[in-house]
Amino acid sequence: RGLIEVRDFSLRYETLEGAVEAVSDVAVTVSPGEFVSIIGPSGCGKSTLLNALAGFLKPTAGRVSVDGEPVSGPSAERGMIFQQYSLFPWKTVRENVEFGLKMKGIPRGERQRQARTLLGLAGLTPFENHYPDRLSGGMKQRVGIVRALATGPRILLLDEPFGALDAQTRLIMQQILTNMWQRLKISVLFVTHDIDEAIFLSDRIYVMTARPGTIKAEVAIPLPRP
Ligand code: ADP
Ligand code: ADP
Repeated sequence: RGLIEVRDFSLRYETLEGAVEAVSDVAVTVSPGEFVSIIGPSGCGKSTLLNALAGFLKPTAGRVSVDGEPVSGPSAERGMIFQQYSLFPWKTVRENVEFGLKMKGIPRGERQRQARTLLGLAGLTPFENHYPDRLSGGMKQRVGIVRALATGPRILLLDEPFGALDAQTRLIMQQILTNMWQRLKISVLFVTHDIDEAIFLSDRIYVMTARPGTIKAEVAIPLPRP
C-alpha cells in the first residue's frame, strides 16, 4: 500500500464566471521512500493536486490519504516547497531553519544542532548567519528546502521548485534534493513541466493531460542510483 494514496480525485473551482474543472478522476500512489514526479502542460492541475495533498484544498470528489488517513489540513509531516521561496526576511538562514523546531518546542541547543546538521548537508554552513536578502535565488530555495525538512516530515511536496532558476543552479539544486532524499529516506512528490528534470530525478513519473487534468501514462525509470 502507498504512503500517499489519491483515488478518483477530482477538483472543481467555483468562480464568478462558473465552474472550472481543474482535475478529473486522478489516481496517484507514492510508496515510502519513493521519488515520484508529475508532469503535464501548464494549467493541467498539477498545483491543484499538490495543494490538495498539502491539505490546502478539499477534493470535490474522491479521496486523498496519507498512511490510510484522509488528509484534512496541513501537517508538519508533509513539507511543501513552492516556486516562490517564502523565507522570513528578518531572520537569518539558521533562524529560518530553526523556526519550525521552535514551534515544536525543541530546546535551543538541540534546535541549533539539528539545524546545523541539515545546513551542512545542503552546503549552507558558510551562510548560516546571513539574511535572505543577501542570498541568490538558488541559495534561498536551498534554505527553503532545508527549512521544510527541519521538522522531519516523511513527505516532501515540491511545486516547480526550480522553475525560476538558471540552468546551472538548477543542476546543483537537483543534486542537493537527490542527496537529501536519499539520506533522510523521505517520500517525494515533485511537480514539473520539464520532462528531463523528471527523468533525472524520479523513480516513477505520472503524465497528465491538459485541463481537466487526468493521468494519461505512468512511467517507471529503472535508473541505477549512485
Ligand atoms: P498547473 O499547476 O498544472 O499549472 P493549476 O493546478 O495551477 O495547474 O491549475 C489548473 C486549472 O485550474 C487552470 O486552468 C487554472 O487556471 C485553474 N485554477 C487554478 N486555481 C484556480 C482558482 N483559484 N480559481 C479558479 N481556477 C483556478
Ligand atoms: P502554476 O501554473 O505555477 O500553478 P498559475 O499561474 O497557474 O501557477 O497560478 C498562480 C496562482 O493563481 C495559484 O494560486 C492559482 O490558484 C491562482 N489561479 C490560477 N488560475 C486562476 C484563475 N483562473 N482564477 C483564479 N485564480 C487562479
